[in-house]
Amino acid sequence: MEKTKIGKRFLGKVAIVTASTQGIGFGIAERLGLEGASVVISSRKQKNVDEAVEKLKIQGIEALGVVCHVSNSEQRKNLIDRTVRKYGKVDVVVSNAAINPSVESILQAQESSLDKLWEVNVKAAILLLKDAAPHLRKGSAVVLISSVAAYQPPSALAMYGVSKTALLGLTKALAAEMAPDTRVNCVAPGFVPTRFAQYLTKDEAVREENEGKTLLKRLGTTEDMGAAAAFLASDDASYITGETLVVAGGLPSRL
Ligand code: NAP
Repeated sequence: MEKTKIGKRFLGKVAIVTASTQGIGFGIAERLGLEGASVVISSRKQKNVDEAVEKLKIQGIEALGVVCHVSNSEQRKNLIDRTVRKYGKVDVVVSNAAINPSVESILQAQESSLDKLWEVNVKAAILLLKDAAPHLRKGSAVVLISSVAAYQPPSALAMYGVSKTALLGLTKALAAEMAPDTRVNCVAPGFVPTRFAQYLTKDEAVREENEGKTLLKRLGTTEDMGAAAAFLASDDASYITGETLVVAGGLPSRL
């Protein structure tokens, strides 16, 4: 959608997006910001945080940047504290950070890599929400970022896919636990060429092969993911909780 046609569903709202200095996280923060939210950007590196904040500010978006490696408890607390100190509240939390430390099959995976997958992709999301929960008021929303790989973990991303399957369950469980004041939903992206998914555009043949797997015959964009996450976080989705929206151009997922 053209940026000038975007509505203003988040005026007066405050949104935290983790791992948001590039890729899908940045796309989500940008969309929420264009719709009027004050957005809190974060990632591991100060330089990336500063650059992302600048890119948002030149579009007229109110943005705060805070360094936060999601598995660092001090930095998670600091992210929430700085947000509340500056804006006085939290309306939206998007938990977007994830890693895929190895391409080994599940039974070949090192214990350390299994631990990392759990720690970054699942545990950090839970602990961040634990810190955010006391500040979330009636009408607030949480969006978790899973993956279409959650439904049918591909062999090269098997255990990563399983960690994303855990987020589907976490969405349901937290939706029950945080109701009725906070809605909890999830986005499952398909193929989106980002640094994380560089393989998608490594060469033209790989790109075409992956485009061909989708019904819509194209890769996804960070704007597609921003639009889906913004919908779920907005009052347009005020009767939706515990759901996962697959945004994958028709890639096979579930019935
Ligand atoms: P990306 O473009 O590589 O961006 C990763 C972002 O995360 C960067 O801003 C990076 O900044 C930050 N980051 C990395 N590790 C972090 C950590 N431990 N703590 C905090 N920030 C961290 O990745 P992406 O493709 O947008 O992926 C975002 C999410 O979408 C992930 O949950 C991924 O699983 C999911 N997803 C992606 C695809 C796809 O095709 N791209 C498909 C399905 C699901 P720093 O380097 O400064 O930390």
